[in-house]
Amino acid sequence: MRSWSIPAGRLFGIEIRIHLTFLFLLVFIWTTESATQDMAAAWRGLGLAGIVFGSVILHELGHALVARRDGIPAKAIILLPIGGVTLLDESQAIPDPAKTWKRDIHVAIAGPFVNLFVAGISALIVLAVAPHFPLWTKPLVHSSNLVRSLVWGNVYLGLFNLLPAYPMDGGRVLRALYSRQMDPVRATQRAVRIGHVFAILFMMVGMLMSNWWLVMIGFFLFVGAQLEERSAVFQSVLQSVRLEEVMLTDFATLSPADTLEDALDKAVHTLQDDFPVVRGTDMVGVISKQKILDALRVNGNGYVQAAMNRIFDVSSKQESLASSFRKLSAHNLSIIPVVDEQRLVGIVTLQNLMHSMALLAESRKLRREGLEA
Ligand SMILES: [Zn+2]
Repeated sequence: MRSWSIPAGRLFGIEIRIHLTFLFLLVFIWTTESATQDMAAAWRGLGLAGIVFGSVILHELGHALVARRDGIPAKAIILLPIGGVTLLDESQAIPDPAKTWKRDIHVAIAGPFVNLFVAGISALIVLAVAPHFPLWTKPLVHSSNLVRSLVWGNVYLGLFNLLPAYPMDGGRVLRALYSRQMDPVRATQRAVRIGHVFAILFMMVGMLMSNWWLVMIGFFLFVGAQLEERSAVFQSVLQSVRLEEVMLTDFATLSPADTLEDALDKAVHTLQDDFPVVRGTDMVGVISKQKILDALRVNGNGYVQAAMNRIFDVSSKQESLASSFRKLSAHNLSIIPVVDEQRLVGIVTLQNLMHSMALLAESRKLRREGLEA
């Protein structure tokens, strides 16, 4: 999602990115409006797109700022033709089921709330300045009246997002409410099922009314719900796997007193890309094959001690994979040493993780089949 978007500045310290398909939409509006009507209409068409664009940004900022207040920083806001997406960095947040559901509701409601607030305030201002302004004349949202579009566009955006159709905001509220009584995966699955019903309804109604926007929204909603469900299942697997089940126990270590050339020589004979650096029984650092090569290239031969990374996290073997993922991403590392009573008993590296996860899944499946047979 990120790779197809271009940066468009920052607001409140949050990166705003525009998805390329959104730019196609602008070009589409411009060409269709300027081909059929006069130039003024084309400009008004772009003005309407600008209003929608601004309202979507405000909506997403609502989510992002409330999330930040609750300790989850936003990585970026991405604008798509069907709305926006706020990418939250949940890697630092410690999951606490007793509080998460309230937090999720706050974050979900903040977006629609901003839109309804903007609609209310702008309607009040318009009526104060021009009491006879045709606020209720149809069409409510159209490029021929941009002020009316600002008010009603925000009303629609707010109400539409409050529909309990996961992964829309109303659906997220529903999921958070379910999660009080059941585990996160089942709560997500329930919300996803309701989301699917709405998605199919949108597509059917859209086709009956030849409203292709509605069909498209239904389609994206369906796919979005599916993806969310998969990521919830993935999260729960990470939560249930303990490090001792996936760690490498047969691994090479380096000594801080090794020269880089010696280290490279050892690295050649193993598949490992990352090495714990051990003095006696103490872990003193970590180093990667790439780091060894870089140091050799830049400074010539030296000692591992000088090139190794001294900042690292250790995990105990009972810790879950989810918690060690948080540690990996917090320090941008690719190796986690696993210790048992201060002793190094294994390592988990990003490189081997996918491989060992696949093997673990197979062995769990075989064991289950063995029980059933
Ligand atoms: Zn939203």
